[in-house]
Amino acid sequence: MKISTSLTRAARFALFGVALSGIAAATPTAQAVAAEEVNLYSYRQPFLIEPLLERFTAETGIKVNVVFANKGMLEKIKAAGANNPADAVLTVDIGRLYGLKQAGVLDSVKSDVLNANVPANLRDPNGLWFGLTTRARIALVSKDRVAEGELTSYEDLADPKFKGRICIRSGKNAYNVALIASMIANHGEDATRTWLEGLKSNLARKPQGNDRAQAKAVYEGQCDIAIANTYYMAKMQTNDEKPEQKKWADAVRVTFLNQGTDARGTHINVSGAGVLKGAKNRDNALKLVEWLSGDEAQKTYAEVNFEYPVKAGVAVADIVKAWGDFKADTLSMEEIAKQREAATKLVDQVNFDEGPTS
Ligand code: FE
Repeated sequence: MKISTSLTRAARFALFGVALSGIAAATPTAQAVAAEEVNLYSYRQPFLIEPLLERFTAETGIKVNVVFANKGMLEKIKAAGANNPADAVLTVDIGRLYGLKQAGVLDSVKSDVLNANVPANLRDPNGLWFGLTTRARIALVSKDRVAEGELTSYEDLADPKFKGRICIRSGKNAYNVALIASMIANHGEDATRTWLEGLKSNLARKPQGNDRAQAKAVYEGQCDIAIANTYYMAKMQTNDEKPEQKKWADAVRVTFLNQGTDARGTHINVSGAGVLKGAKNRDNALKLVEWLSGDEAQKTYAEVNFEYPVKAGVAVADIVKAWGDFKADTLSMEEIAKQREAATKLVDQVNFDEGPTS
């Protein structure tokens, strides 16, 4: 890994106050001749993105300068306005993608490649952002304490039979906001409020921790059902550095909800990308986003981070395949995004994060 040799570019990126991590071209020779470049803002982590970008550069000769951002990326992009040095942005969650859209910083692109590779429900209708992977929000249920078929839907989570048996992270977390938004899109606000109150009263404890912490709580016997994203299950199952996580994963069974013939399918969310307005390397930015939707990148997403490819026909990781196929809710991400605000309001209204009151 080398820092970008372009001082001007480096200096401009450095203005953002985050670490500059240039993805150098494949070889010093290629780097020396690489006139083409693209500047990328990434919310996604280096372990996942670096191998992808290295391959992109090797194949196209386009150097990628990437800034890994944690928080405040949108604010920085907005503040930079027309002088934004980044050409494209890579992030997770429909909430962030939609936030970028609403802030007016994304450029509309037309791409036959992206339209072919990314299903319509997983991209912006006007080409402002494109989903690149999906992840399902699943139930991880205790192998010992939850029978097969005992929990089959998100609606069930509010059933009194699960009183004191469910663990979930904060209702304000983006993954949960999207899930609640999907409930609103399907059932309306009033019914979703009632559902959320039911779920809250079924919680074993105050919402806390991340997704993996919910599986840990099942392992420890604090609850019987955890709600989490699929890739966290795979990461726990394969975590050689923290073998205790393998025990958490071992205690639970992957359960895709709303799977019956008439059911709408499991709620999914996306990671995705968009080209920024005023991009100085717009063509290269589009090439990069298109490449990320192609077979090679999609396979890498699947294998390195255990996500589901958006492109049809690309295989998932073996460990993910072992959980079996599932039917995904085909509700458009755009519809979910539109209900996010209402979802957040409901979380406040029912004081979800206070946890069970009795
Ligand atoms: Fe995550």
